[in-house]
Amino acid sequence: MTRPEQLTPEFRALSAKLGQDPLRVQGPGGNTSIKDGNVMWIKASGTELAEAETSDIFIAVDRKAALAEVHGAGDGSCKATVIDPTISLRPSIETTFHAALDWPVVVHTHSVATIMHAISPEGRAAATEKLSDLPALSVPYRKPGLPLTLEILRRLTPETQVIILENHGLICCGRTVAETNELIEEVERRLSLPARDLSGEVDRPAPDGTEWATRATGLATDRRCFDLARTGSYYPDHVVFLGPALPTSGADPERPVHLVEGHGAAIRTDATASQRAMLQCLADVFARLPEDWTVEPIGPTAEADLLNWDAEKYRQALAERS
Ligand SMILES: [Zn+2]
Repeated sequence: MTRPEQLTPEFRALSAKLGQDPLRVQGPGGNTSIKDGNVMWIKASGTELAEAETSDIFIAVDRKAALAEVHGAGDGSCKATVIDPTISLRPSIETTFHAALDWPVVVHTHSVATIMHAISPEGRAAATEKLSDLPALSVPYRKPGLPLTLEILRRLTPETQVIILENHGLICCGRTVAETNELIEEVERRLSLPARDLSGEVDRPAPDGTEWATRATGLATDRRCFDLARTGSYYPDHVVFLGPALPTSGADPERPVHLVEGHGAAIRTDATASQRAMLQCLADVFARLPEDWTVEPIGPTAEADLLNWDAEKYRQALAERS
């Protein structure tokens, strides 16, 4: 039996608040769940948390069936765990870790403050220090879905309520919506760092079919940002929405964004809202990156994996390009 009343106004409000803040969630990224007994309500794949109060973005899944997928049943997508057979939405690709975390409320965001720490060895060490008195742990990068869930489970303790996902984001868990919200805000407060301004007008017309993303100009004009952006991808949704790294002038015109060195970030005029949000996310992350922190990209194999490309062919294509 699914009881939609489990989806409390408080839970919907927290989901919407996070979804509407580009420093916490970009486009359809992030997901929240609330469980009671064997029923877990979770955001559906492709929907946006920002709409949690205005549309039906949550679906009920059978938690036991989802847990069985964690332990080898099914394909880990949890498609078959949706309770109402008439629903065509699929549960979030991250459903397995929501099911595996034994807390009533689980919130996963692509928090800019967390990502900024989680892409850097020095940042990860700093985050561990800043969160040392919280029930927190850090998990190395794995592909979202079952591989990530299994890595979380290898490290999880019954007390864990805060999980830093390296090169990915943040998970917070609690007994209630209020407790979870307080924990999220505490983590955000501790991880926040001042942002540089990477916005700027561009002194030339944008290349054909594109417009300047003037809030992200620094990605092309700041030497360090430019080098980081064109040489690597740092978290999964960047690759999913914008492709690997950010190409520079002369790139495949199908790519949604390219950087014009020394001038600006050109985004296709037909780019989607999610692509625009992901470009802004990269600028927001780099704007907060301390100068003395090094940064680790996820690497070509992980990029190919996210795009379901054959890893070897992809490596060859990369080699040809450079
Ligand atoms: Zn995620």
